[in-house]
Formats: sequence, structure tokens, C-alpha cells
Amino acid sequence: MKSYDCAIIGLGAVGSAAAFQLSKSGQKVIGFDKFSPPHTNGSSHGDTRITRQAIGEGSVYSPIALLSNAIWREIETQTGEDLFTACGGLLFGPRDVKTTQHRKVDFLGETIRAAEQYNVPHEVLDIDDLKRRFPQFCYEGNEFGYYEPGAGFLRPERCVQTQLELAKTLGATIHFDEAVLSIEPTGGDCGVRITTSSGEYFADAAVVSSGAWVQEFLPENLKKHFQVFRQVLFWFEVEGEASLFSKERFPVYIRLGHHSDDMFYGFPAIDGPNGGIKVAAEQFEEATSADNLQKEVSPSEIEAMVAHIKRYLPITNRCIRSAACLYTVTPDSDFVIDRLPDSPQIILASPCSGHGFKHSAGIGKLLSELVVRGETSLDISSFNLRRLT
Ligand SMILES: Cc1cc2nc3c(=O)[nH]c(=O)nc-3n(C[C@H](O)[C@H](O)[C@H](O)COP(=O)(O)OP(=O)(O)OC[C@H]3O[C@@H](n4cnc5c(N)ncnc54)[C@H](O)[C@@H]3O)c2cc1C
Repeated sequence: MKSYDCAIIGLGAVGSAAAFQLSKSGQKVIGFDKFSPPHTNGSSHGDTRITRQAIGEGSVYSPIALLSNAIWREIETQTGEDLFTACGGLLFGPRDVKTTQHRKVDFLGETIRAAEQYNVPHEVLDIDDLKRRFPQFCYEGNEFGYYEPGAGFLRPERCVQTQLELAKTLGATIHFDEAVLSIEPTGGDCGVRITTSSGEYFADAAVVSSGAWVQEFLPENLKKHFQVFRQVLFWFEVEGEASLFSKERFPVYIRLGHHSDDMFYGFPAIDGPNGGIKVAAEQFEEATSADNLQKEVSPSEIEAMVAHIKRYLPITNRCIRSAACLYTVTPDSDFVIDRLPDSPQIILASPCSGHGFKHSAGIGKLLSELVVRGETSLDISSFNLRRLT
């Protein structure tokens, strides 16, 4: 029976990055995915993901975002692929409240502090600056903003596909359309037996990067800490001068409101005027499961989103496209990257809670360090499983 240094379960954002980085480190890697990534069943589809360098979700994240950006650029140079567009990023919200985002109070303040801590070029904008620089939005009048010229968007499908191709070039064995059914430790703290829909495989270690299906590989007492929420992406037609929304004139943005359900975020029109502008909000009320994702977006969902967005952006009622996608969410909205308590050869990697894509390339590198050296060059201790229990 052929044996591998490391098996990777799930080849989306994190699994593809881990497959690339582990193969680059000389590891004999086998990766499995139950579908053929990039696909539209998990968390890594929909054309674009926001990336920022100063991360308001916590100071531990900025170094991982910076590492990821360096990796995206390195891959672009190596392959000629266009993965990351630094069109600038704007976060703005009311001055009179400490807005919460991803369970982090004073998200804008935390972002500014992270920018100062990590020397991220940025500007703090008052309402007059906002109106002058970004006249595309309607403002309430009491907002202030954070603008980061180095922020922008990633192309998630291309990132996944390119890293998988690089991994294969470096010798990784990649099995698509093969679901992992179980991962069993083969004794002690080294070795796993992987049973899939097609066979049995052995490896010294395993990385579980199964996204919204994470519960399948968790001990019973940990499952309840990972909830899955359906999120919807909308592409709306712009009313008026479409060129105002080109990536040269319109940044990626997060508009924070007085309440978390006022929040929405979006992207420039990257496919010309006919492609529309992509906007989305977040919902954490109705949980689902990965296998039960309702992919159709209903007319009433579209109507509600039009009504919400029209107050702030000039869109027509025409929704050009929509898609449903999955957030996996922990109670504190922070990631989990840790060894399973009774099986340290199995590493769980869940960059969850709706803000993980921008960090995924760096997490792949950190996972490779963890498997090969037993330690990571950046501090990921706060992503432990213990805190959940
Ligand atoms: C609508 C939406 C918007 C987002 N916006 C942003 C953003 O702007 N910026 C940002 O940084 N992040 C964003 N995120 C979050 C980010 O996209 C996710 O954190 C990231 O994609 C998660 O990657 P993953 O590798 O954990 O999961 P996935 O990419 O979904 O990969 C998991 C893979 O595991 C496979 N799998 C599952 N079970 C098995 C099994 N038993 N056997 C084999 N394979 C299996 C699946 O098929 C899948 O391919 C957003 C997420 C969503 C849904």
C-alpha cells in the first residue's frame, strides 16, 4: 500500500494552498475533494473576495494577510495568472457608534490601529473627503472612513485552480470527486488511515480543510461550535454612469451601519457595465448544513436586497446574477487551526466565519510549517480548539 507524508481532505481555498505549500516543501502529498474544485457547492466561489492588509478582526490576522499577499504575487509572477487586483479598499460607518463586524467591537477603530501597528499605508477620511472621493455612495452625514490603497479583490476560483495545478506540478497526487468517509489514527500520534468513496490510503499526517463540512471530522463535543449559514451574492445593474464603478474609480468596500444588519459590502464592476456590481450582506439567523444548501435565490430575496442597497447606491431593480454560498461560523468568529485533541497527527484548518479567503495562501504555508517542522513562523495560538470548549 502506497503511503504519503500528508493527506489533505478538502481542496478549496485552504486545501489547495496547503497542497501547494506542502508539495513545495518536498512532502509527498495526496489531496481529496468530494467535488472538482473550483466548484459552487462550498465557500470559495462567486468571482471575487475582498482582501485587506489591516485587519479589524484582530491584530493576529494582519501578518497572515501580508504573507498571503506576498504569496499571491509570487504565484502571479511564476504562472502569469491574474489573482489579486489592488484597486483600493474603503471601510466606512457612523462615527457615533463603535460598529461591530464579525463579532469585533469597534471594527473600524481596530482596523486603523492594525494599520498603524503594521505600517499599512492608509488614510482616515471624514465625511467631506468621503463625499468628494467616493461620490458613488449616498451618505447619512455622520460617517467616517478608512481607505487602504493596497486592499482589493482576489479571484477565488483562479486562486484555487492555480495552486492545485502548481501542487500537481510539484508531484502532489490529487483526487477529485472522491469523498473522504473517515480518517482514523493508526496508533500513537503518527499515521492515519483514510477511507474514501474509492479506497483506502495511509499517511503520516492529515490536514482537514473540508470547509462547511468540517463537522464530519470532529469529535462529538466540538461539532456544535461550527455553524453553517447560507449567504447570498447579488450582481445589480448600475443606474447612470457605469464608468464611475470601474475598478479604476471604485474600490472594494464594507459599509458598516448602526446595526449589524445594515452592513453590506461590494466590489467594482469587473466585467464592464453589463456585468453589474456585486454586493452582499451577511445573515446569521438561519443556519443550514453544507449538503442542504439552497442554491436558488428567490425573487423576494432579490427585492429585499434592492430595497436595502438602493438607499446607498444607484442601482436599478435588475438583478443580473445571484449565487448562494456558505459561511462556517465559530462562536467568536475567529479561525480554528489546531491539532485534534486525541489525534495530533490530524490538523483541523478552518479559516471560517466569512473572512478567511484573504488569509488562505498564508494559512497553506503555515500548515506546511506545522506538518514539516511542528511549529509555525507566525503566531496562530489563538486559533486553538480549546477556547471553544
Ligand atoms: C458569500 C461569501 C463571501 C465571502 N467573502 C469573503 C471576502 O470578501 N474576503 C475573505 O477573506 N473571505 C470571504 N469569505 C470567506 C472565505 O471565502 C472562506 O473563509 C473560504 O473560502 C473558506 O475556505 P475553505 O477552504 O475552508 O472551504 P472551501 O473552499 O469550501 O473548501 C472545502 C472543500 O472541502 C471539500 N470537502 C468537504 N467535505 C469533503 C469530504 N468528506 N471529502 C473530500 N472533500 C470534501 C469541499 O468539496 C470543498 O471543496 C466569504 C465567504 C462567502 C461564502
